[in-house]
Amino acid sequence: MWSGRTRALLRVWGLWPTGVLGRRPISCNAASLAGSNCPQCWNCGGPRGPIGGDGFFCPQCRALQPPDSTRDHFSLMDCNRSFRVDTVKLQHRYQQLQRLVHPDFFSQRSQIEKDFSEKHSTLVNDAYKTLLAPLTRGVYLLKLHGVEIPQGTDCEMDREFLMEIMDINEKLAEAQNEAAMKEIESIVRAKQKELTDSVSRAFEQDDFEKAKEMLTKMRYFSNVEEKIKLKMIPL
Ligand SMILES: [Zn+2]
Repeated sequence: MWSGRTRALLRVWGLWPTGVLGRRPISCNAASLAGSNCPQCWNCGGPRGPIGGDGFFCPQCRALQPPDSTRDHFSLMDCNRSFRVDTVKLQHRYQQLQRLVHPDFFSQRSQIEKDFSEKHSTLVNDAYKTLLAPLTRGVYLLKLHGVEIPQGTDCEMDREFLMEIMDINEKLAEAQNEAAMKEIESIVRAKQKELTDSVSRAFEQDDFEKAKEMLTKMRYFSNVEEKIKLKMIPL
């Protein structure tokens, strides 16, 4: 999608200060050199700077710009496109972006900017949630590599695995107290950790079929986790 050169430049831009005072105007030349387009600001008509950088605001008039629909979650959250994500860094980036685009900061601004801030904020929330949890991150990364996991893939799963899931579901149905449910929960958590490590290895080896298989298994365990949560809610 991005050339190596563009990616390198984006990384440099990502390091720039993002506060309003620290935001530097980026010339159109720099953008065209990087092979990116240079759209105009909706408010003043001036050049907006590179769309892939942190160009949330117009460098001239400081108006909030619309979200860049071509930007993926990894780029938005300033992460390498990899299954291994530094979740502390991810959280910092999330807070940094919300400080820039949260609708609360736009209550005195134009309706257009209010609308853009809503859209930005929703996108930032989606990106953060997607990249934070290993299952959704893996499914998303797989999708970027052109591999989708359809719902209801029972027939593709091995019999042994399906038996294991059935067994856990039965145990959960029979669990009468919190201790029994906690025990099942810790078994499932250990399974998820094991699978997360396998997914990580599969992505490192560009083995997307293996990653797909492991993520599908994680989805089954995730359903069990949801059931445990529901059952633990006191009636
Ligand atoms: Zn402007």
